[in-house]
Amino acid sequence: MGDCLFCKIIKKEIPAEIVYENDNVLAFKDINPQAPTHILIIPKIHVPTLNELEESHKEMMGELLLTSSKIAKQEGIADDGYRTGFNCGEAAGQTVWHIHLHLLGGRSFNWPPG
Ligand code: AMP
Ligand code: ZN
Repeated sequence: MGDCLFCKIIKKEIPAEIVYENDNVLAFKDINPQAPTHILIIPKIHVPTLNELEESHKEMMGELLLTSSKIAKQEGIADDGYRTGFNCGEAAGQTVWHIHLHLLGGRSFNWPPG
């Protein structure tokens, strides 16, 4: 976790455009946005993927989702609709090994995703 990109963003060692922060979670703009609004919501504890989740993470995972709902309203995308998602592992396209919830909005999305 010493060389984890998102842990460095949490420690403010790497800059990010932060849109929300509290004691447990941090949310910042994705550096390569796939929609007009593309925000990543991460826990302040290092968990690499959904595969490493434990019972003790229940509250933290709920807080990620609750935060996505708050930020969607804050960013003005709640009424039109938005997409949230976790990529888990290589087949899903995960590239940063610190759990993050994608929040995308400001356009229409296809289903199923590619
Ligand atoms: P994933 O492919 O699900 O692991 O998502 C990782 C996301 O992190 C991608 O959408 C990247 O564009 C984004 N990302 C990578 N580096 C940074 C960074 N320094 N600041 C903000 N977002 C980043
Ligand atoms: Zn990390």
